[in-house]
Amino acid sequence: MPKKPMPKIHVLTPKCIGCQLCVSTCPFGALDMAEGVAVSNPDKCTGCGLCLVPCPTDALELVGPRAEEITGKMMAKKLRAAGTAKSSTPTGGTPEAGSSTGPEVPAPLHGHVGVWVFTELQPDGKQAASVSWELLGKGRELANDLGVPLSALVLGEHVDAIAQQAIAYGADKVYVVDHPVLRIYRNGPYARAIVDLVRKEKPEILLMGATTLGRDLAGSVATVLETGLTADCTELKINRGERLLEASRPAYGGSIMATILCRDRRPQMATVRPRVFAAPAADLERTGQVVRVPFEMKEEEVGVRVLEFIREAQSTVHLQDAQVIVAGGRGLGGPKGFELLQELADVLGGVVGASRPCVDAGWISPDHQVGQTGKTVRPRLYIAAGISGAVQHLVGMQTSDCIVAINKDPDAPIMKIADYRIVGDLYEIIPALLAELKASRAAGAETVAV
Ligand SMILES: Cc1cc2nc3c(=O)[nH]c(=O)nc-3n(C[C@H](O)[C@H](O)[C@H](O)COP(=O)(O)OP(=O)(O)OC[C@H]3O[C@@H](n4cnc5c(N)ncnc54)[C@H](O)[C@@H]3O)c2cc1C
Repeated sequence: MPKKPMPKIHVLTPKCIGCQLCVSTCPFGALDMAEGVAVSNPDKCTGCGLCLVPCPTDALELVGPRAEEITGKMMAKKLRAAGTAKSSTPTGGTPEAGSSTGPEVPAPLHGHVGVWVFTELQPDGKQAASVSWELLGKGRELANDLGVPLSALVLGEHVDAIAQQAIAYGADKVYVVDHPVLRIYRNGPYARAIVDLVRKEKPEILLMGATTLGRDLAGSVATVLETGLTADCTELKINRGERLLEASRPAYGGSIMATILCRDRRPQMATVRPRVFAAPAADLERTGQVVRVPFEMKEEEVGVRVLEFIREAQSTVHLQDAQVIVAGGRGLGGPKGFELLQELADVLGGVVGASRPCVDAGWISPDHQVGQTGKTVRPRLYIAAGISGAVQHLVGMQTSDCIVAINKDPDAPIMKIADYRIVGDLYEIIPALLAELKASRAAGAETVAV
């Protein structure tokens, strides 16, 4: 019997994000990768259409006889898979659309698809700020929930190495805008490059760090794009049923947590402070697509010149990098109490933190303050002594791995989030703890395991 004529697969190159899902799906070896995108071999393609199912961006189409019939069957299969599948993400790939559990995700608003993270660089332009990797970790979760690709935006000069790092930290695709005008951050050129690219590529979510740079840039970009921006978020989630970003942050002086939605405009923008989210481990084996974006701007067009960087006097407290923090609150009763906390911090190899009233009272300097108007920290061990646990304090430390609360009041709010609760007078408990630690040291015990 003569064979039925079959269509051939065709790759829509601009849509391909280089995830390689089609390559691993094709049973006939008819798809391969070249220069970061899929290419098809018509001699091997049988026109079965199986590769259409996993493609997250619909970058493949069948062309020729029976193309419509086979495409229809495969799209039905894709929809079924979206409802049930929970397949793992291959190296460098994006998840299948709808791979997360929960209600089906509606169609994108105004054709905006994908999660983007702005990769902030250190002032030297050679290294990324760690908040960028933390946001890629959260961005990966959001993208997986939506079943869309995660992209990083890298702006600067000679930033190829940063683009590769962004892939290692979870980006499927990296847009690189490499230009001398972007070597040092200035609002004008950075905002223009991002606005142009967003208008062209239409992401649905854009995240930036709530750093000095990120706050400056996010506001400008959101204003020009006439979209919503939620600043200083402490949680980001996807509402799958409505295809919306739920951006939560403290509001009304921290007395409530507000969840803010941007229903009608795209992209939905949010900034997040460093250390709010954990950075994922870098996977140097990951692969992804790097897209070079042309950018035209002359130095004369930029209204700002950077003449010199003058380093601020360095803070001696590195709260944000500390693995152990021993923090004190109003319950200390005065500045002397911090000497006791310092002793405990020294034994544990940590640093001293404080609640705001202690700073306001001048018991300790402002660089020790943890919380909404202080630093956000994420140590392995956080000891809160004489701190009640007001929401403005909790937002700065609640993601610590292990929280030990020492408080006279068993009903203090800090007790609700503590992993270990010690009820009593801190002036009795801390000396007892110190004596115990010193005794076990003398007996040759290792540093306290957290
Ligand atoms: C806009 C805004 C921003 C703010 N930003 C911050 C911020 O960044 N960081 C911050 O910390 N706060 C901030 N605050 C203040 C916050 O609302 C609280 O007032 C503050 O966190 C309370 O500090 P505290 O827990 O040390 O004091 P308190 O609430 O007075 O608690 C003292 C605790 O010590 C316990 N205690 C007393 N004596 C002892 C003892 N001998 N032994 C053991 N326990 C004892 C008490 O039972 C009590 O629970 C902000 C407030 C506003 C309005």
